[in-house]
Parts: sequence; C-alpha cells; structure tokens
Amino acid sequence: MKFCYCPDCKDLGPTAWYRRKECKLCGKDCQIITVPISAYGVTMYALSAIGAALVVCEVFAIDLGLGTWRLYLMFGSLILAMVFSGLETGRAIEVAKERVGRTL
Ligand SMILES: [Zn+2]
Repeated sequence: MKFCYCPDCKDLGPTAWYRRKECKLCGKDCQIITVPISAYGVTMYALSAIGAALVVCEVFAIDLGLGTWRLYLMFGSLILAMVFSGLETGRAIEVAKERVGRTL
C-alpha cells in the first residue's frame, strides 16, 4: 500500500498509483510512503480469488458438487476478504505513521 504524507499539513492518507502525488489539502508534492503487503493482504487476495472463482462457477452454472455449501463459501470468502482488507489497511496505516514519526 502507498501513502501520501504532506509535511506541511501533517496529513497522511492512502494513495493509489494512478493518483497524482500531491497533497489533497495544499496541492504540494507529498512524500510517498510504501508499506509492503502483509499476511493479511495475501489472505485477502487469496479469499477474493476463491470468492471470485465461486462466483464465476455460479454464473456459468458449473457444478462443483458442493451443494448449498458453495453459497456459504462464496459469501463467506468475500466477507472475510473484506475483513482482511480492513485489517491490512489498518496495519499499513500504523506502519506508515511509524515511518512518518521516524522521518520527522
Ligand atoms: Zn499539504
């Protein structure tokens, strides 16, 4: 995850590669803080992949022989992916804050 930190506004927020590296408050260039993906992030991607695969099977009416379980698995994996996505974001923000604290 990438974060944009503005030393002037003391503003730290997540940013994306396609977004311009500018502070959303003052428009000045911000400092980019990159936090590597953790186990939470990897779990999130894995669960999203499982959820997506199950949705695809559902759309194309592919029978995995799971019966009703496929629905539990589908929603379960997608909901858990959201939970892990939240955990990953929370953790990444903490790491970014720590780095900002160190560079100040
Ligand atoms: Zn700023």
